[in-house]
Amino acid sequence: MVNRRTSEINKTPLSIITVQGVNMESIKIDDILAQYDSSNLTIATVCSHSSLQIFHGAKQEGFHTIGIAVGEERRKFYDGFPLAKPDEFLMVEKYTDILNLTRELQQKNAIIIPHGSFVEYLGAEKFLKLELPTFGNRDVLMWESDRNIERDWLESAGITMPQEIKNPKNIEKPVIVKYHGAKGGKGFFIAKTYEEFQKRIQPDKPYTIQEFVMGTRYYLHYFYSPIQNNAYKLKKGSLQLLSMDRRDETTIDEVQRLGSIAELEEIGIHPTFVVTGNIPIVMRESLLPKVFKMGEQVVEKSLELFGGIIGSFCLETVVTENLEFKVFEISARIVAGTNPYINGSPYSEMIEPGLSTGKRIAQEIKFAAKHDQLNEILT
Ligand code: AMP
Repeated sequence: MVNRRTSEINKTPLSIITVQGVNMESIKIDDILAQYDSSNLTIATVCSHSSLQIFHGAKQEGFHTIGIAVGEERRKFYDGFPLAKPDEFLMVEKYTDILNLTRELQQKNAIIIPHGSFVEYLGAEKFLKLELPTFGNRDVLMWESDRNIERDWLESAGITMPQEIKNPKNIEKPVIVKYHGAKGGKGFFIAKTYEEFQKRIQPDKPYTIQEFVMGTRYYLHYFYSPIQNNAYKLKKGSLQLLSMDRRDETTIDEVQRLGSIAELEEIGIHPTFVVTGNIPIVMRESLLPKVFKMGEQVVEKSLELFGGIIGSFCLETVVTENLEFKVFEISARIVAGTNPYINGSPYSEMIEPGLSTGKRIAQEIKFAAKHDQLNEILT
């Protein structure tokens, strides 16, 4: 049995919880954990996104694994990757049916590892209501799902973000227009003038206008442990940089094979920002202290605001020609950009040979289970 301790997590004030009336207080994860056999935990996630890596890492650490899948096709392709195939599948007709599997998963001592598709398929409201111990701090969703609140968090942490243009009439340099809730950059567009903006905008959808930052993109994959002190030290716990990637986005990243963006726009072909894959990358070493400093600022502010961003997170950045970072987005859980590093990255290799983010997550759960600290990394 898990020893119930008073969690050190400073729970978010309920007043800021805005996702359609979800009462986080009613979800008693500590009570559920108290019924778990912590020596026989299962790691479960939805079969998509970074699940191969999550299962692979969990199996390396000796966990039983469960894949939740819709449709036979999803199940079948895991046969192609025996070392990452979950020990067990739970088949559902639609992802929201996961809520009906809660009891079964609890009986299997299941811990959910959420990833971007998990949250998207289930929907934020149902994800918050899920009565299963979930790796990381679910309260972070309130801070990342609204671009204004996210900006409050990051800027108050001292992070530089791209300038926001409130009034489209003030567009004086290239901007990127982002529709709220658009997944994978779908529908985003670039405008260089107010006239261009007017031609492309769908005014019925809420949007944000951001300065289009000129530079090179780096997506930085961190891991914050509130319970281990064996890495870059923070006021509480420690921080690791496990890897970084650059997203491959169609069509913007290859559109120049056909002609310049300006030429193509003249004939009505506009670049899009839909993620199709991830490319491994490293950064010039002199920038790494800044990378750690940014991670530190984000984590320490999160501890103050909502009890901390626990486990994996990613800062999506552009580095300008003055070697300044501008952070345009944060992802508060494992990102698919970690997938090129199933057997370690140039950074994680210097922490432990062959360390992936999936394996690191499993290790954190194992450590917490051993030291009766599960309730400090699960919510
Ligand atoms: P996001 O949904 O915010 O992650 O943005 C999708 C993609 O648009 C990113 O991966 C970048 O390629 C690009 N992007 C987003 N914001 C900016 C920005 N402010 N400046 C330049 N490119 C951006």
